[in-house]
Amino acid sequence: MSSCSGPEDAKVVIIGSGFAGLAAASALVKGGFKNVLVLEAKDRVGGRVNTTKPFTENIIEVGANWIHGQKGNPLFKMAKEKNLLSEGPSASINMCLPRSVSSRDYFFKEDGKPVPEKIVDQVSSRFSKLTDKAFDDKLSPKHKDLTLGAYLDDAFGASPLAATEDGQQVFEWCKRTECTDEACSSLYEVSASQISNYTALEGGFFNTLGPGGYRAILDVLLKDVPSEAIKCSAPVKSIRWDLAKEGQRYPVQVVCENGQSFEADHVIVTVSLGVLKEQATSLFEPGLPQNKLNAIKNLGFGVVDKIFLYFEKSFWPDNCAGVQMVWKEGPENKDVNKALSEGDAWKKTWFKKITGFDTVARHPTALCGWITGREALYMEKLQDSEIGDTCLRLLRSFTGWSVPAVSKMLISRWGSDSHVRGSYTFVPDGVDGVAAHKALASPLPPKDKSRGKRQLQVLFAGEATHVNFYTTTHGAYLTGIREAERLINYYTN
Ligand SMILES: Cc1cc2nc3c(=O)[nH]c(=O)nc-3n(C[C@H](O)[C@H](O)[C@H](O)COP(=O)(O)OP(=O)(O)OC[C@H]3O[C@@H](n4cnc5c(N)ncnc54)[C@H](O)[C@@H]3O)c2cc1C
Repeated sequence: MSSCSGPEDAKVVIIGSGFAGLAAASALVKGGFKNVLVLEAKDRVGGRVNTTKPFTENIIEVGANWIHGQKGNPLFKMAKEKNLLSEGPSASINMCLPRSVSSRDYFFKEDGKPVPEKIVDQVSSRFSKLTDKAFDDKLSPKHKDLTLGAYLDDAFGASPLAATEDGQQVFEWCKRTECTDEACSSLYEVSASQISNYTALEGGFFNTLGPGGYRAILDVLLKDVPSEAIKCSAPVKSIRWDLAKEGQRYPVQVVCENGQSFEADHVIVTVSLGVLKEQATSLFEPGLPQNKLNAIKNLGFGVVDKIFLYFEKSFWPDNCAGVQMVWKEGPENKDVNKALSEGDAWKKTWFKKITGFDTVARHPTALCGWITGREALYMEKLQDSEIGDTCLRLLRSFTGWSVPAVSKMLISRWGSDSHVRGSYTFVPDGVDGVAAHKALASPLPPKDKSRGKRQLQVLFAGEATHVNFYTTTHGAYLTGIREAERLINYYTN
């Protein structure tokens, strides 16, 4: 049983240095905790935030890029107060994800013909209205029980736009692009009704950061934490808890892969849902309660990857925000289970899942391709050169422009990354998202007054543990603060 009497001598180990871990560390240090240690598996902090400079002195965001929403967003507030937001044109362009499709995106068909702008505008605005209806919890009873894909098919099918070939094909493009927001393989695996639990904060959805990117916000948090309190390249192998029963002084012991071990009164686990899916049964001793294991199994954690192509000079018109590719036959399969059993045929056309190539903030000669789901995972196993060649072939055949060779490339591989195993969380069809996020967030051991000081041994933070802001950086940040406050209250109340 822990012998500590207050925050000054309580030992806290935080596993993971993403937004959740660093927010928790910063809040605990500011709250008077003197023994805080962050163990990070990678050789860098940030987790799914990875601000790098692979091409020039300007940054590239391999992971999170935008701050989603303004009102009530703690990261937007922090960035604004510290002058870390982008100003000028780069704040408004380079945001060609689904809800910001503008006439500055160039849409091409497989045969190299442009898609009429009017069709793109009409379909994308219809698509936005339909997804907004789901987010705003305004689905009709008949649509509530459907997957997001089935609901969209049914609702869009009623529109005259669905009767035209171009309209239908742009609609399929919109669905592929929506997979980026949902981090899923197919919209037919996502619950239509559950996405209303996600809260979109008011204000622009795609707020761009200044030259320091997301790293600059991490640096704000890092300033609060003594550098010796963060240990990188320290992957944790096991978390042994409830040790007080065995007469140990500290109730928790954290053991790293290199054998080093750390005793603690409290551990805050912030590893991704992807890591939990892979390691939950081996990481904890005793094992996790069944409701937590169910939540880990039932919530979805999909892959979104970025393909950065750097050219010596640009070959697209000045007003082009991106080249979007509209295929004759969509890669979507209406029944995800059918899709999974259809064999390997989809591997030959994995590249059809690339929605398009957007221009990149601060890099006037770079493009960023987006790919999701099983096709992204498949792509991750290919050589960079093969991926680059495929992208060039697509760009040339769709646009007919004179596309030069790529001079440098950077391809994310979030699915294969053993410390992340995916990109972000979604709620699959048939899953109660709120119950699952809550089960994931609940501390161990379960509440029991008779345990006295042995409560709150293992706490859980991270994007997947937030009921309304899952998937986002601000969600991750807020869960770190939530768990730090849980401990601060524990010692002060
Ligand atoms: C491609 C991509 C684009 C995105 N775009 C956006 C965006 O534009 N806006 C937005 O808001 N969000 C975006 N996100 C999501 C956002 O990045 C995440 O929600 C957020 O960063 C998650 O933070 P976290 O602290 O919960 O988890 P993580 O950042 O995953 O942190 C967990 C940490 O735990 C470490 N770890 C894992 N296992 C161990 C172990 N055994 N021992 C020790 N350490 C371990 C990991 O290395 C990692 O550093 C994006 C994500 C991706 C991948």
